[in-house]
Amino acid sequence: MHRRITGKLVIATHNPGKLAEMKELLAPYGIEAVSAGELGLDEPHETGNDFRSNAAIKAIAAAKATKLPSFADDSGIVVDALDGAPGIYSARWAGPAKDFNAAMAQIERLLLERGSTTPDRRRAHFVSALCVAWPDDHLEEVEARVDGTLVWPPRGTAGFGYDPMFQPDGHSRTFGEMESIEKHGLPPLGLGLSHRARAFVKLAEICLEPR
Ligand code: IMP
Repeated sequence: MHRRITGKLVIATHNPGKLAEMKELLAPYGIEAVSAGELGLDEPHETGNDFRSNAAIKAIAAAKATKLPSFADDSGIVVDALDGAPGIYSARWAGPAKDFNAAMAQIERLLLERGSTTPDRRRAHFVSALCVAWPDDHLEEVEARVDGTLVWPPRGTAGFGYDPMFQPDGHSRTFGEMESIEKHGLPPLGLGLSHRARAFVKLAEICLEPR
């Protein structure tokens, strides 16, 4: 049985961008979002082997510490020709300086080393895993992806991370060239294009009720 989220929800992130995005997404459902950062919670080590387990580790740690239902996400980009790298290490590839130009250049260098110069050999997808954990150990988990092709040079200055190099299927612009509402917006305002938007739609279906 799926469980609905009501009342307060801890957002287990120390990233202000993610918190703002979640507050906005949850507002129509009458959910009061409080962040792990505001509550002074420690960030657990992400020791999982996949996106789903890392999201669960973060959500469970926050639920145990606060005794409140807690939400966490994990995401990244998976490049087919690189055997799935950088995957769960997507943030780490940018180093402590969070230099995503360097991380994109690293992907491009590895693709060229493998002779991946045609679009069919430059396939990639973003993944978003979302988890809500309750203090009694109940979990709700969803995952979604968006498929596309990696372009070079990167295009566009919108978005973040690997956006400028990722061209979603069915579009001629990269995520870096799209308005936020087009990439992340949920229907009816947006297309629900991104991995995170698609995962959120799935979570809303099972855990949220519009006011
Ligand atoms: P985490 O989910 O905070 O562990 O980090 C995921 C990393 O994957 C981010 O630092 C980004 O580099 C990358 N990533 C995840 N989602 C996106 C996206 O929508 N666009 C660009 N990069 C992303």
